[in-house]
Amino acid sequence: MLKLGFSHASPADVEREAGRIADPVERLRYLRKHGTATVQGVLPRRRPNWKLQAVIAAIALPAALGVVYWTLPSARAPEAVKVPSILVARPAPNQIWQVETSGVEEVYSNGLRIDLSFATRLRPRAEYPVFALAGASQPIATDRTPRGIVYHTTEGDMVVFEKEEHQKIERAGHQLLRYVRQQHSYHYLIDRYGRVYRVVEESDAANHAGFSVWGDERGVYVNLNDSFIGVAFEGSSSKTDDVTGAQLSAARMLTELLVSRYNVRPEDCVTHAQVSVSPSNMRLANHKDWARAFPFAAMNLPDNYRLPVWAVEAFGFSYDEDLVGASGGKPWPGLVSADKKLLEAAASQGADEIRYRGMLRHRYQEILADAKARQLQAEAEARENRQRRN
Ligand SMILES: [Zn+2]
Repeated sequence: MLKLGFSHASPADVEREAGRIADPVERLRYLRKHGTATVQGVLPRRRPNWKLQAVIAAIALPAALGVVYWTLPSARAPEAVKVPSILVARPAPNQIWQVETSGVEEVYSNGLRIDLSFATRLRPRAEYPVFALAGASQPIATDRTPRGIVYHTTEGDMVVFEKEEHQKIERAGHQLLRYVRQQHSYHYLIDRYGRVYRVVEESDAANHAGFSVWGDERGVYVNLNDSFIGVAFEGSSSKTDDVTGAQLSAARMLTELLVSRYNVRPEDCVTHAQVSVSPSNMRLANHKDWARAFPFAAMNLPDNYRLPVWAVEAFGFSYDEDLVGASGGKPWPGLVSADKKLLEAAASQGADEIRYRGMLRHRYQEILADAKARQLQAEAEARENRQRRN
């Protein structure tokens, strides 16, 4: 067990102080400054700051002409002090409903169509643990509801997207579908014509995220196959410009459905490169799909590349030149800010960077062992259930 002591102004202090500021813009500025300036505030800092949300809503709503303010693009982005200019509509829980199912297709009220002809099962989604940002290696909670979405590309060579190549495009798409179905690679695949295929049932885990880490104000999640939904674009991470307009609009509708169905938070809709890790060398982004240029805006999402990478902050992962190259020659803002937070946290502990990373990594290894044991147990249970049914 690893204990890290923290001494900072509590969120309650900050809120009390903020309450004394009459001007809402000044108050917002103060809250944002103090809500983001603290280092490693463990979980209390990440509790929903309703007062802050209310202030923002009061400022943002009149300007938004009826558009519902979703949330802060990044409550943790260090540089953000001004009122966000992008206002996004967040679908309310169960706002999108199924209007038709034929057994081969589901149709939803937002226009989304899901092709069921390749749908298969892997094993029921297991109860997944939620960990505190720092402290003990035991979970602070468990859950079964998907917390977010991980976006992927399928990789592989792409056929030129031209009318004359239609047959080749179709052939490649079907080959890919058969492959990802066999591998249980994702929950959804969006082909180049924007057709959405369910690959693995949402009730089940899919093999999409492997070793991975993400988090939100409720805690940190490790290995996201059970806790996140995997959505893949047929495409290549080196040629993300090739993603078609049809794919973008289908992905937006699918995102809308999943956000509505599971009450997903916008900060939990991220890319594989943002969550992927390699425990063997403690580097980030073992998988680099969508290391850059994910069209968050087209998904009606805030720019989540701004969010500090949780694997760095919570577990001391680092990144190398390969990732910088994949992200376009410059690390995305959340990588930089996560490193900065880590260094600040180390300094506040009076530890040097190497020793501090070592402590975080030790905790990760303990948590990983626990996650592996849970996964093996879930697989064994699924096997037993299958045998019992046969
Ligand atoms: Zn991926």
